[in-house]
Amino acid sequence: MRYEPVIGLEVHAQIHTASKMFCGCPVMEDTGDLEPNTYVCPVCTAMPGVLPVVNERAIEIAVQTGLALHCDIPPLNRFARKSYFYPDLPKGYQISQYALPIAVDGHLTFEVNEVERKVGIRRAHLEEDAGKLYHQDGVSKVDLNRAGVPLLEIVSEPDMRSAEQARAYGEALRDILVYLGVNSGNMERGVMRFEANVSVRPAGSEEMGARHEVKNLNSFRALYDSIRYEIEHQISVLESGGQIEQQTMGWNEVDGVTVPQRGKEFAHDYRYFPEPDIPPLEISHEEVAALRSELPELPRAKKTRLIADYGLSVYDAELLVSDRDIAEYFERVVEAGAAPKEAANWITGELFRLMKEFNRPIDSIKTSPKALAALIALVEQDTVNKSTAKDVLQEMVVSGRDPDAIVAEQGLAQISDAGQLQDVIARVLDQHPEQVEEYLSGKEQVVGWFIGRVMRATRGKANPQLARELLRNQLEARRG
Ligand code: ADP
Ligand code: MG
Ligand code: ZN
Repeated sequence: MRYEPVIGLEVHAQIHTASKMFCGCPVMEDTGDLEPNTYVCPVCTAMPGVLPVVNERAIEIAVQTGLALHCDIPPLNRFARKSYFYPDLPKGYQISQYALPIAVDGHLTFEVNEVERKVGIRRAHLEEDAGKLYHQDGVSKVDLNRAGVPLLEIVSEPDMRSAEQARAYGEALRDILVYLGVNSGNMERGVMRFEANVSVRPAGSEEMGARHEVKNLNSFRALYDSIRYEIEHQISVLESGGQIEQQTMGWNEVDGVTVPQRGKEFAHDYRYFPEPDIPPLEISHEEVAALRSELPELPRAKKTRLIADYGLSVYDAELLVSDRDIAEYFERVVEAGAAPKEAANWITGELFRLMKEFNRPIDSIKTSPKALAALIALVEQDTVNKSTAKDVLQEMVVSGRDPDAIVAEQGLAQISDAGQLQDVIARVLDQHPEQVEEYLSGKEQVVGWFIGRVMRATRGKANPQLARELLRNQLEARRG
């Protein structure tokens, strides 16, 4: 029997607003070195008598994300209490949304091995993050820095059919979130977490099998590996006559296996009910339209446009689009007059290498798009050759100076003046009569040797094509 995997993802994305979802505490990215319980107040630590106040910016960002995912934005929103007991949840319930979420019925389109896939988005709702347990000196402690950070939970339809598709969906979603400025996309800091719902069914069947829900997947690697494991595991259970029970699993990264956590809760276990301390929230057509008009161009549309408008390869376009600032930098280099293909080559080649070497993102690099375009022009006009230009770029990145100034000051301009080169070549030939004889007796390779001499005599600045042409002419002129 052949089986078909069925996968749906729930993605928790932190929203990095200035303050938390229901209080004024700052939202801090978890760099791992924050002092525990520093960014807390009576609201996010659930002191008696406090009241939540909704962060409007979080609502706006959630709506924009919903719009980017082609969702409908219902006019009425309502927060709900989701009750469960865990030490990192100080209120004993999480403020979430249930019947009336912020966004519904959307989709996300992306490519897997250049084949287009479209995955439905069931809903996206706002909630607050919980705190974190940590363990010190044999004692478990609670850190509430993260408690109350706005979270957007994005729930897909069960439309994915392989671990590869699920990973590509996650990556496409991350790119969109980063473009929208929802968060940094830094998975190591837990700004985006996955739950994978996985089932298998006989190929051709329309019915869905019972699913395992794998919680707390914090990397694309874990997402991919755990889904692959689940698919194989479930098929082998069914093959040997067993049954899959709906269940919550954890991922053991060390052993590469999923492990049962507890029986799956059903919605009624959470005793959802409307949050009495927050009035229903109305979002008007006008507000939605205004937020829609502020949406930036999204990664996939940008990629398509760069290919169409500039004739870039898919590969170059993907490299440039991977970061919104880099894509913008590229377009400004082209605007400043560089040929698109040359601009793409310089950015994805030398500039990326230098950014890595000096550990600087594009927005803190000192070389302006205009300056890079000027350097590309110097190569184009044969003022400097490519290898000199690479040295000049390094100097530009370090000092922020213009290429023309560097070339002038260090005397790096290529010698393309025929008269000047003729003199140098004549001198070189006069100094090496035996090699001239060798050439005249048919030894072609000597030309390369002479080019080397000419380069040495000009400290690498001779225009190589011109030098070769003049050299041949002079050698031929010495024939009988
Ligand atoms: P909950 O996990 O809260 O019970 P849902 O029932 O809405 O929520 O489903 C959560 C996720 O599980 C969704 O992404 C959905 O696409 C996916 N899903 C539902 N049923 C299956 C199934 N049989 N196999 C795989 N994924 C499923
Ligand atoms: Mg779930
Ligand atoms: Zn607080």
